[in-house]
Amino acid sequence: MNQDKNCEERKMQTDPERVSVLGLGAMGGVLAAAVVKAGHRTTIWNRSAGRADGLVAAGAIEAGTAAEAVRAGELVVVCLFDHASIHEVLDPVAADLAGRTIVNVTTTTPAQARELAGWAERLGARYVDGGIMAVPEMIGGPDSLVLYSGAQEAFDRHRHVLDRWGRSEFQGSDAGLASLVDLAMLAGMYVMFAGFLHGAAMVAPAGIPARRFAALSAPWLTAMTTAFDGYAEVIDGGDYTVPGQQTLVFSDLGDIVDASVAQGVDPSAVAMVQQLIRRQIDAGYGADGFARIYESLRSPAAAVR
Ligand code: NAP
Repeated sequence: MNQDKNCEERKMQTDPERVSVLGLGAMGGVLAAAVVKAGHRTTIWNRSAGRADGLVAAGAIEAGTAAEAVRAGELVVVCLFDHASIHEVLDPVAADLAGRTIVNVTTTTPAQARELAGWAERLGARYVDGGIMAVPEMIGGPDSLVLYSGAQEAFDRHRHVLDRWGRSEFQGSDAGLASLVDLAMLAGMYVMFAGFLHGAAMVAPAGIPARRFAALSAPWLTAMTTAFDGYAEVIDGGDYTVPGQQTLVFSDLGDIVDASVAQGVDPSAVAMVQQLIRRQIDAGYGADGFARIYESLRSPAAAVR
């Protein structure tokens, strides 16, 4: 009996599925290709013509309409542009969604992901939200990570399909969690990129090309990421006075701001960090560790959109 059950579970995890992919842009096209390559019966649809040809040659079936594509799949992957485009495509086919699993990997806010989850649930569909932490060239490779949240049973059932795109990490049953973690990770990426570009602008007037600066900066910034664990330990422990940390006073960025201005560079990227440090020093915490700027971030002075 148990053997039968195990066999059934294994079968569920490996059987070819009927998968539909809506949206064949730079990301959707690569996701669909990975599903086709894994041997699933893959139906594809895109708003504009001309995106499906290579996939059809590889074995995908092109649907004439989004409704046709939805009806062909037990797992419906949605990779469109934004929240509005998802409703634009799925609202007219809402009646066909009952009993199916929607995996939406279009970038949305956490609130929009929750809205979609509630909407899908009312239609009788299972909803899993996904946050892709990869660019198209990385899909299926060792560094590709995809975050998921929402209906766990549906995630578990279709995981063997999703795993083809990269490492799958389930965040929890709150459908907004994948998006939240995705956007939080992107926040780190964009601030790092702005910091790198700031540095490139600083050295440019000295005749140092951005390419040379990039070669110097990449290993440096990579090495600095080893500090994350230490900061995380201090934040989770809640004690910013733990010995051995670089203090806030020592972390004063005044020299960087001055040198930026002297190079004719807008100092706002660095001044933003300096302001977070200053707020803690002014509150009397100058001897605490740098991680304390986390407290400045948790009590925003003013929200900027
Ligand atoms: P893309 O190349 O610009 O493709 C966008 C896709 O959405 C196209 O298939 C487009 O169809 C479709 N679309 C846009 N508006 C539509 C509408 N109103 N109705 C129907 N279809 C519509 O973008 P992408 O790079 O594939 O990105 C897709 C999603 O993945 C985005 O949410 C993006 O944030 C997310 N993502 C992308 C990356 C990345 O590196 N590319 C990484 C992580 C997450 P047409 O061909 O007809 O225009």
